Amino acid sequence: MSIQGYANQFICDLVAYEPGKPIEETARELGLDPDKIVKLASNENPLGPSPQAQIAIQKVMSQAHIYPDGGGYQLRSALAEKFQVEQSQVILGNGSNEIIELLCHSFLNPKASLIAAEHAFVVYQLMATLFGAKYIQVPDPGFVHDLEAMADAITPETRLLFIANPNNPTGTLVGQQEIDRLMERVPDHVIVVFDEAYYEFLGEKAPDTVKFVRENRNVVVMRTFSKAQGLAGLRIGYGLAGADVAALLQKSRQPFNTNAVAQAAALAAINDTAHIDATVQNNTVGLDFFQNAFEERGMEFVPSYANFVLVKVGDGDRVFSEMLKQGVIIRAMRGYKLPEWVRISVGTPEQNERCLEVLDQVL
Ligand SMILES: *Cc1c(COP(=O)(O)O)cnc(C)c1O
Repeated sequence: MSIQGYANQFICDLVAYEPGKPIEETARELGLDPDKIVKLASNENPLGPSPQAQIAIQKVMSQAHIYPDGGGYQLRSALAEKFQVEQSQVILGNGSNEIIELLCHSFLNPKASLIAAEHAFVVYQLMATLFGAKYIQVPDPGFVHDLEAMADAITPETRLLFIANPNNPTGTLVGQQEIDRLMERVPDHVIVVFDEAYYEFLGEKAPDTVKFVRENRNVVVMRTFSKAQGLAGLRIGYGLAGADVAALLQKSRQPFNTNAVAQAAALAAINDTAHIDATVQNNTVGLDFFQNAFEERGMEFVPSYANFVLVKVGDGDRVFSEMLKQGVIIRAMRGYKLPEWVRISVGTPEQNERCLEVLDQVL
């Protein structure tokens, strides 16, 4: 018998996550100059990493031979102070994606179920599958999470309910009223996870979910340094959780799950408001640019609250590969069961113009 026969069946059946195509790989395969390639495929920060973080990284490098503070004391203190929660309620992750995995370690097994929206961030399904748990998808009319229907889907076996807000890849947002109503209905055996990777882009429109953390409800608010702070390559994110949930997540992690360089960079990036403001401003302009262009061309798109936009192009795979040949990387959406759509991240004004020019040619 092959070794596959001895592996967990749900691993053998798993369809691996397909990330945005890397610039170097594209350059190699197509013989292009990597410096001329425009990547608008992974919702990265087009202005680069926080300059404050870059300075902090230089300083900490001479201590790279020392193991990191596994407890992340400084970074967790700073986050606790910023959001007015207890330090024990802050969990660090190797990217906020790791917090998803820690939740699964704590709560999922083949008898448990996870609820998410039909077009939710695909990592939830991936993780549910890895832990052999049942994945319940709730229809999201108009690509907006239907929180009433998600609450209706809760059973005694449900442990996790994910709300990506705004959601990736749709860019849609659910508001305070719907969230408050859900939190009135949700029973104690379910942990509600607010995945707020694009929180900084919302400004005043951001619903208050940290209040549930302060009330020690069974919630986790997940955020990341990958997007607005531009630290995706360092892998650092965090969760704010009700005390009981937080204690379980702390036990589920590896001793040194976040590294010293990432911790130092994140600590500096928290207060780099100049960079965050410039990032949000660039994003507002870029989103307007794309959405106005799509409107002018009569193309269907989903109005976005994040740093990317979902647009209908007919054959998404074809548009992706034709644009790739011209050195513009976007994201095809077949993996999200949206074969007619592509997702485009907002870049710098020059990158956005180049992307639109190539998109026009291809269409
Ligand atoms: C980008 C993103 C994340 C963040 O991932 P990291 O692991 O922190 O880089 C989490 N959730 C959603 C919905 C995202 O789009």
